Amino acid sequence: ENSSGLYEEAKLNPGQEEAVCALDRVTAVIAGPGSGKTKTLISRISYLLKERGIAPASITAVTFTNKAAEEMRSRLERLSGGKRAACEMNIGTFHGICSRFLTSSGLEFMVADEGLQEELAEKAIARYALKLSPSRFLREISNRKCSAAQGESPAVQEESRVVQEGSHASGAQVTAEAAAFYQELLAGEKVLDYDDLLLETLRLFRENPGAEAEKQFQYLLVDEFQDINPVQYELLKAWNRNGWELFVIGDPDQSIYGFRGSDAGCFSRLEADYPQIHTVRLEENYRSAPAVLESALSLISHNDGEKRRMHALAKEDALVRVVEASGEMGEAIFTAKEINRLIGGIDMLDVEENHSGEQRRVRSFSDIAVLYRTHRQAQFLEKCLRQEGIPYVVAGREDFLLEKNVRGTLYFFQYVLHPEDEAAGQLCLRLLWPPEEKTAEEQLTLLISKYKRRIHKDRTEKLLENWIKDRKLEESGEMEKLVNAAVLYPEMEHFLETLSLGAEGDIRRSGSRRFPADAVTLMTLHGSKGMEFPAVFIYGIRKGLLPLELGTASGDVQEERRLLYVGMTRAREELILTFSGEPSMFLGEIPDKFSQREQAKKEKPVEEAVQLSLFDFMV
Ligand code: ATP
Ligand code: MG
Repeated sequence: ENSSGLYEEAKLNPGQEEAVCALDRVTAVIAGPGSGKTKTLISRISYLLKERGIAPASITAVTFTNKAAEEMRSRLERLSGGKRAACEMNIGTFHGICSRFLTSSGLEFMVADEGLQEELAEKAIARYALKLSPSRFLREISNRKCSAAQGESPAVQEESRVVQEGSHASGAQVTAEAAAFYQELLAGEKVLDYDDLLLETLRLFRENPGAEAEKQFQYLLVDEFQDINPVQYELLKAWNRNGWELFVIGDPDQSIYGFRGSDAGCFSRLEADYPQIHTVRLEENYRSAPAVLESALSLISHNDGEKRRMHALAKEDALVRVVEASGEMGEAIFTAKEINRLIGGIDMLDVEENHSGEQRRVRSFSDIAVLYRTHRQAQFLEKCLRQEGIPYVVAGREDFLLEKNVRGTLYFFQYVLHPEDEAAGQLCLRLLWPPEEKTAEEQLTLLISKYKRRIHKDRTEKLLENWIKDRKLEESGEMEKLVNAAVLYPEMEHFLETLSLGAEGDIRRSGSRRFPADAVTLMTLHGSKGMEFPAVFIYGIRKGLLPLELGTASGDVQEERRLLYVGMTRAREELILTFSGEPSMFLGEIPDKFSQREQAKKEKPVEEAVQLSLFDFMV
C-alpha cells in the first residue's frame, strides 16, 4: 500500500501546490495520468482543514468508487489527525452522496438492481412491441431522464425529432409511452433506479433549498471530473450555487464512459459557466517507468486533440513487453506462469527463462493486476490461476449478479435487515417461489424469523452457506460466486450496500472460499481507473476485443483507445501486453523503441503443470 506516512510527506511540486492553495471560486486541475491529481485533491482537503481552519462538515468530496472514498477517508484521518474530522466530512460517489441525502431527507426507498431494471424494461418493450434490446431501451430512458433534468423537456425534444425523422414520428411517440410505462412499473415496485437516485436529489435540492443541507457543499471537490454525466454536472451546479469553492480534477484523455452519456466536454462547459475559472496543468508523471509512459503517450497521440506533454520522473529502463500467445488458453497459461515468475515461484530457478538475463524483482501477488476488456475474458484466466495456485480477486459487476437465485437471495437478506422494505419481500417471493405456490409466504415468514436472530451475529458467508442449504442451492455456480464475494465483506449490511450502490471497482469476489490477504487483482479496463500497480498485464489485446466490436457495430475507436491508455498508465514498473490471434490495431501504435515483441513459450498443459508447481503447497 502506498498510503504510508512517506506518501503523505512527499513534497508537492509547484503546480500541485498552486492547486492545493488556490482561493478561487472555481479551480480545475487538468492533467495526465499519474501526475498526482488525486494526491493533490487529498492534500487540498488536508490544507483546508489544517491551514485554513475549514469545518469538516462543510466539505464534500466526490470520488468515482466507494473504495476510493474509503481510502481517502483513512488517509485524511492520518493526515489531519483524527477520526472525527474524517467522519464529519462528506466523501463518496455521486450515488452514495445522493442516497445519504435522500435518506436524511426522510425518503424511504430501495434501489432497483440491474436485474429488476431489465425485467421491467422487457415488460415495457413487450407491451409496446418495440424493436430494442433491454439495455438499449434502458439507455434510451436514461438519456431522456438526463435531458429532462437539464431543462429540455423530453416532449420538446420529441417534437424536434419528429420533424427530423418524419416517418418515424409514431415510433418516437411509442418509445416515449413505453418509457413512461417503465417509470410507472418502477413506482409500482416502490424502487428507484440509478438515475432516479440522482434526479430525486436534484429535484429535492431545487425545490427546497435548505440552508443546512447546502452547508456541506460549501467546499466541493470532484475527482475524475472527465467522466461525469450531464445530470451529475447539474447536481454539482445545484450543490455549488451558494457554495464557496469548487475544485475539480480530471483528464479528458481518460474519459471512458461516453457510452453512458458522460462527456469530456464537461471541462469546456465548466469554463463557459465559470469564466473566472483558475486552471492548473501538471506535466510530471510520478507513476510510470519512461517506456510505459512513452508507449501510452504514443498510443493516445493517435486520437484527436492537442499534443500531450508529460515526462516521466521514474528511472526504470525495462521496456513494455508485447507477447503473442498461440490461442486464448495459451495466453492465459502464459499469464499465470509469468505471475509465478514475478513473485519468485519455482520458474525463477530456471535462469534461461529470464530472457533479458537480469535479476527480476520479487513481487507479492497484490503488486500485480490483470486487466481485460470484458468480464467474459476472465474465464480461462481464473482456471489457469487456480491451477497455478495463485490467489486472486475479481473486481466488477459480473453476470452472476443478474441470476434469479442470487437476486432473490439478496432481496431476502435486505428484507430481513429492513422489514419495512416490503418491496424487497415481494421481489424475493417472486424470484424464489412460483406464484402459485400456496405456502410461499409461510415459508418466507419462517425463514425470516430464523435469520433475524442470526443476521447481526454471523458473518455474511456463514449466513449464505446456511441459506444455500435451506434452499437447496448447492449446485448453483452463481451462488458459489456470491459466497466467494461474501468472504470479503463480513457484515451483511455492508455487503448489500456495496452490491446495490457499488461502482465497478467496488464489487469484488475472491477466487476461492478463503479470504486472500495477498492476491492478484483481475478487473476490466474500466474498473482500473485511478489505480496503480507495480506490474500490470493487459490481456486479450486482439482484433474484435479492442476496439470492442459488438455484433456488426464497432465501438467508438477513440474511446476504446482511451480505455487502453487508462489501462497502460496503471503500471508503475512493468507492463505486459498479451494477445492471441489477430493483434489489435492499437498494438501497431506502440513504437518498437519502447517495446519488445515476444512469442509466449509453449507451456505444458495446465493439468501437468499443476503437479510441478511447488507453489501449490506453499499457499
Ligand atoms: P490518475 O489520472 O491515474 O488518477 P493521478 O493524477 O490522480 O492519476 P495520483 O494517483 O495522485 O495521480 O499519483 C500517482 C502517483 O504519483 C502516486 O503514487 C503518488 O504517490 C505519486 N506522486 C504524486 N505526486 C507526487 C509528488 N509530488 N512527489 C512524489 N510522488 C508523487
Ligand atoms: Mg487519480
